[in-house]
Amino acid sequence: MFGEIMSSVIIIKDNFDDLAKGLSFINATNKKLCIITDDNVSKLYLQTVEEAISGLDNRIFKFVIKAGEESKNLDTVRSIYDFFLDSKFDRDDIVLALGGGVVGDIAGFAASTYKRGLRLIQVPTTLLAQVDSSVGGKNGIDYKSVKNAVGTFCQPSLIYINKETVSTLPEEELYNGRAEQIKTGILSGKGYEPSVEECIAFKKLITDEDPYDEYKRQILNFGHTIGHSIESAYRYRYRHGVCVALGMICAEYISFKRGWLGEDKFLELKKVLMDNGLKTSVDGIDIASVLDNCCNDKKVHDGIVRFVLLKGIGNPVIVDDVSKTEILDALEAINEKG
Ligand code: ADP
Ligand code: ZN
Repeated sequence: MFGEIMSSVIIIKDNFDDLAKGLSFINATNKKLCIITDDNVSKLYLQTVEEAISGLDNRIFKFVIKAGEESKNLDTVRSIYDFFLDSKFDRDDIVLALGGGVVGDIAGFAASTYKRGLRLIQVPTTLLAQVDSSVGGKNGIDYKSVKNAVGTFCQPSLIYINKETVSTLPEEELYNGRAEQIKTGILSGKGYEPSVEECIAFKKLITDEDPYDEYKRQILNFGHTIGHSIESAYRYRYRHGVCVALGMICAEYISFKRGWLGEDKFLELKKVLMDNGLKTSVDGIDIASVLDNCCNDKKVHDGIVRFVLLKGIGNPVIVDDVSKTEILDALEAINEKG
């Protein structure tokens, strides 16, 4: 499938067979091209990707980072800048990010800042990155333990998705992506298990309308206000998707209590999350600390906590008036009393 996301060409396939075609389409031939990947993904897909683009007269360079969030920092970016400089990379050269969200974020940030921006190709290999983070042009690195504290908006020229790569993902990584997939289904009204294509089409629609996250795009934060707070209160012991799942339950609970959403929808979501290996409650949740994080979230402006609630499935609303009591009640709803 060929299409446009802002300036991004998108190709969704079950293999890497059309990667060379995609590169030719965006004129990324006859250049220096650096594949940035991590030490897990490199073992699985680096050779296949190299072979797939070998006939294009690009000079291929490879930069392998250590897998995991710990790599999302300025040191890694600095080592990439050094590599680009040593390899004499210039404005018209290309960066190809092959991996999950971590690789996409680091490679995207390095590409968009080196010499004021090299062209970027995203080849996401986790479900999370395929249905969410590779689309929309955000990147970022962590700084002084603040997640995504530094980053830019940079639309990739090409997003090439080989759906088959998720077959090698560890199960917990798959669950992680499913949470965002379910989120997209709820927001778009496409059912709880939208396809990768549907998720991308929805994210494209929203991010095209609001590329710089000024308002509309904030609906994509459904489940993330409380989700982020749980993530940080538990010092990232739970994966992002797990926390977003809990956050979505809280947001649906608040919507239900306001009379905006039927209780059946709230219960349905719990079942869907459970069926998808996600948590629906936390044993003895530290309510005070989650609440504290919630009110200090980076999306808090002038003490107002911004929430995405639902006035029905497929009908998200952005609100600024959720009270502390409503948040507390929602946290109680996911508190497993042992
Ligand atoms: P996310 O997309 O969740 O932000 P990460 O970039 O942190 O993901 O990737 C999660 C983990 O999965 C990392 O250890 C990464 O090396 C690994 N990984 C990424 N893609 C694949 C794949 N297709 N098969 C197996 N492991 C993968
Ligand atoms: Zn998310």
